[in-house]
Amino acid sequence: MAGMATDTKGTLTRSGARAPASWGLGDGRAIPWDYAPAPESRDIVKLKERYGLFIGGREVPSSDGSTFVTVNPATEEPLAEVARATAEDVDRAVRVARRAQQRSWGNLPGRERAKYLFRISRILQERSREFAVLESMDSGKPIKESRDVDVPLAAAHFWYYAGWADKLDYAFPGRVARPLGVAAQIIPWNFPLLMLAWKIAPALAAGNTVVLKPASTTPLSALLFADVCRQADLPAGVVNIVPGPGEIGMVLVRHPKVDKVAFTGSTEIGRKIFKGVAGSDKALTLELGGKAANIVFEDAALDQAVEGIVNGIYFNQGEVCCAGSRLLAQESIVGPLVEKLKDRLSTIRVGDPLDKNTDVGAINSRQQLEKITELVESGKAEGAEMYQPACDLPERGYFFRPTLFTNVAQSHRIAKEEIFGPVLSVLTFRTPDEAIEKANNTPYGLSAGVWTEKGSRILNMVSRLKAGVIWANTFNRFDPTSPFGGYKESGFGREGGMHGLHAYVRLEDR
Ligand code: NDP
Repeated sequence: MAGMATDTKGTLTRSGARAPASWGLGDGRAIPWDYAPAPESRDIVKLKERYGLFIGGREVPSSDGSTFVTVNPATEEPLAEVARATAEDVDRAVRVARRAQQRSWGNLPGRERAKYLFRISRILQERSREFAVLESMDSGKPIKESRDVDVPLAAAHFWYYAGWADKLDYAFPGRVARPLGVAAQIIPWNFPLLMLAWKIAPALAAGNTVVLKPASTTPLSALLFADVCRQADLPAGVVNIVPGPGEIGMVLVRHPKVDKVAFTGSTEIGRKIFKGVAGSDKALTLELGGKAANIVFEDAALDQAVEGIVNGIYFNQGEVCCAGSRLLAQESIVGPLVEKLKDRLSTIRVGDPLDKNTDVGAINSRQQLEKITELVESGKAEGAEMYQPACDLPERGYFFRPTLFTNVAQSHRIAKEEIFGPVLSVLTFRTPDEAIEKANNTPYGLSAGVWTEKGSRILNMVSRLKAGVIWANTFNRFDPTSPFGGYKESGFGREGGMHGLHAYVRLEDR
């Protein structure tokens, strides 16, 4: 996955920011220059004033006519009004999805389903700029990330699972893979289009139909995806999209005609969903929160590690479930590593998500900004030492400076709780055993990172770390062929790869 900018030409800082002696004038002073604005044009996005629900292949208003407004978090301006699904709408969507599964989609040969998925992938590629701009406007993420990460990966997921649609016999040798039926899918706001792709692509490849609820702060890319389904001539009712509040998500989860529930979001809501399906025979996958340790040994290539750490926690404003939010640095190198990190932080550009130079965009919502602010305040109050680079934040919008805490104890809230923001806590260790103990000292188990020159140490560490995904000498890399998911309070089930197919089929003996 592409990360933060590593362009060494871009290392000069904004006026007033600190710079290492090797930059600028060679005497430790930065040359006071700034990047000229490089805004991506919004013209490619034709925003409608009002969006409906997508049920049975058509855009329809909600049954009671109610709507909500989605806001651009970088400007606080309303973008559009969106129909708010009711329980009646959810019921209609599930019934339509069931009919489509039983009468058309579930009976199509795999190679025919594959054609639709390939078509969707191609259309996503063709319309990638439109999706990237819309995603950045609705979510606040920098355009270079939506353009280079979210949209290409979403297209790649449809492409990858298109390839499996007619090869289920090879995925599950000796068994017959049957679709589960109707999948209820609830996705969060941090990667709206990408999470949609993670969920819809394997479900459709395996012959299921879906009803998807996007997050209330980021419904627009899912509704643009509805247009892609129409463009691809996907049979009516195979994909249905019902924006609405959390309670509507629960109505969907509990619906008796739903066969499978897939959720990505907070551990707190994941627990409620677990209870919501308990006692039923619905299949369930939960992809929840994380508090990943990024472990740097003294023999690691430090400059490379710095880029990985920055990518690990400041990518997507840190609003990433697998973010490397706890840096575990070996005691002998913590000093130089933190110095290098501070220097690197002073070059991060925070601001307009549509500016192609922006590294850190807007926080997704006021509510999330308040949560980050509160946790950062707790870090200061509990005695950790905070560093933030000097950079100007836009006057409007929900922005937060990249933040680094040193002097952090394992008992501090910032070391324990998922902040879901651009905030890094630095802890230290002396021995590999201590690193393992600290890394695993969390109720979560989603991801981890190890930085060392020694292959044997990597193998030793990864076998002892309790995390679903572990990166070695890199961080936040994703690929459709690779399974992703957690342990403990980070959830269960895997998305991506062949494992991702498994979550959408019932296996029978031949
Ligand atoms: P939530 O878990 O509340 O939201 C995720 C999705 O679940 C959204 O579509 C949401 O809808 C929906 N939802 C909310 N309540 C229910 C419910 N009772 N039943 C069914 N679906 C529901 O996350 P938040 O948006 O509130 O973020 C809170 C915290 O969660 C963040 O600060 C972060 O720490 C964590 N988080 C983790 C994510 C991850 O990928 N691990 C992703 C997002 C958040 P709606 O948007 O309408 O509320």
